[in-house]
Amino acid sequence: MTTALPSGLASAGLNAGEQELLDRVGQVARACAERADHYDRTARFPADDFDDLFAAGLNAPTVPREHGGLGLGPLSRDTLTLWLVTKELAKADLSLGRCWEGHANALVLVDALGSAEQKRRWFDGVVTRGEKWVGWSGEPQAPKPGEKRRFGTSVVRDDGAWVVTGTKVFATSATGAQWAILLVDTEGPGGARHAPDGRDSLLMLACDLSDPSVSVDDSWWDPIGMRATVSHLVRFDGTRLPDANVIGAPGAYLREGWQTAFIPHYAASFLGAAEAAYEYALKYVIRQDKVADPYVQHRVGSMAVDVESAYLWLRHVATLWDTGKREEARLAGSRARHVVEHLALRTVDNCVRVCGARSLIRPSPVERILRDLTFYVRHDNDDQVLATIGRALLGQEHDASFYKP
Ligand SMILES: Cc1cc2nc3c(=O)[nH]c(=O)nc-3n(C[C@H](O)[C@H](O)[C@H](O)COP(=O)(O)OP(=O)(O)OC[C@H]3O[C@@H](n4cnc5c(N)ncnc54)[C@H](O)[C@@H]3O)c2cc1C
Repeated sequence: MTTALPSGLASAGLNAGEQELLDRVGQVARACAERADHYDRTARFPADDFDDLFAAGLNAPTVPREHGGLGLGPLSRDTLTLWLVTKELAKADLSLGRCWEGHANALVLVDALGSAEQKRRWFDGVVTRGEKWVGWSGEPQAPKPGEKRRFGTSVVRDDGAWVVTGTKVFATSATGAQWAILLVDTEGPGGARHAPDGRDSLLMLACDLSDPSVSVDDSWWDPIGMRATVSHLVRFDGTRLPDANVIGAPGAYLREGWQTAFIPHYAASFLGAAEAAYEYALKYVIRQDKVADPYVQHRVGSMAVDVESAYLWLRHVATLWDTGKREEARLAGSRARHVVEHLALRTVDNCVRVCGARSLIRPSPVERILRDLTFYVRHDNDDQVLATIGRALLGQEHDASFYKP
């Protein structure tokens, strides 16, 4: 009896070096999976996981090779390997996957838009000291019921520096990262998500999080899942960021559509959660000798096809990035993100249906996977993702970055 996906599905097209890299990531990921329950229960940043990645020389995924990194990602035209690494870590722990994505994506931005001096300075910190990065935009403008405080930052110019005051939420890795790229708008609060398309007042400022003007309020983050992402509320109390910390030209993030390079990266994490549930379900039904049950067979078949489809989508989009078909890649990335959300949610649901209630009792990892995935897919609104795909097809104006209606 075969228990695997079609042979070579994850690794087809990878060269020997890339395969060896994924094998090393797999080894580290096994230790991360052991720690996932602890980090979830304590809602702590997965620091030991990042330490292990650093010790294994795996913590600089999107830093170019000439700076000592692994040279993965859309800029280096090795996108699929990056996404497969992310998938592997998310399979161990979806919260770790999110922190990892944030780190990898922030370094892509430094590589794409940073000056030579910035790259030297910041990449060295990652490669030699294991520094961790993240990107923070989150300034939701609509208060939830009962919420009195308003989130958002103001940015003013003062004596050769930008001064940031206010709050951000959903600040992933808040207690783990050393550096955050702050996406802030000189026109007012809202971050990147709320800035109108084409606005050139959106700045990217690299912030050293040990600055005494930066503080973390951990009382806000008490979510159903993704607890170990520690996506806390962060307060900036007149944080001075010199021009040497400004990344790229104002507005470049939106103008050049960088968010679209990161959207399918979320899908890679969704796939990790789905694959973990699928493999758990397979082992479970074999151990319980439920393999002759026609409904179990039906759902196992469905899970296998769904996981396989998600791989094929990621491979398709990665190929578009790596062959320089950037415009096609941007739209295909949203399609992949939409499809993979549903494939992953269905796979986890099928896992629960074949394994039963006991799969939702700790220490089963399935209850954490279900909570994490349910929450993480809300990172964007799937209705708006789909509508944006339709708008593009119908020749209507559309926001390929944040899917604003
Ligand atoms: C686990 C996790 C980690 C995250 N990490 C980060 C991070 O590291 N950095 C970062 O910057 N962000 C991060 N985010 C935040 C994310 O980018 C979104 O800003 C956040 O999820 C939005 O929260 P919300 O859905 O509650 O809010 P809202 O923005 O209030 O949206 C609620 C709903 O209303 C819809 N909506 C919003 N505006 C309109 C409108 N004008 N008309 C009609 N419908 C509308 C939305 O599409 C959505 O479905 C993270 C989110 C999650 C879940």
